Amino acid sequence: MRFIGWIGTALVIIAYYPQIHHLLVERCAWGISVFTWLIWFVASALLLIYCITRNEILMSVVQVVSIIAIAVTIVLVRRSNRICPYHRKLAETLAGK
Ligand SMILES: [Zn+2]
Repeated sequence: MRFIGWIGTALVIIAYYPQIHHLLVERCAWGISVFTWLIWFVASALLLIYCITRNEILMSVVQVVSIIAIAVTIVLVRRSNRICPYHRKLAETLAGK
């Protein structure tokens, strides 16, 4: 059953990829709530402490991965300085232009 845990861990890593890739390549943070990511950061930090105290190695690894990915995302959001063509078009469509 251990492999299920590692597949879950791999999916956590994969799940962060599209967002980080978009921030890195397009420097576009359209629609991202930094406050939400900060709450996730605190949540992961608390869960990491909880997992360590319970000797949950796999879950600790998942939280460390999340903390790193969330920190990278927040740094990249603060660095982003443009709206990519895709999100510009989406924003115009939503605004009815
Ligand atoms: Zn974008």
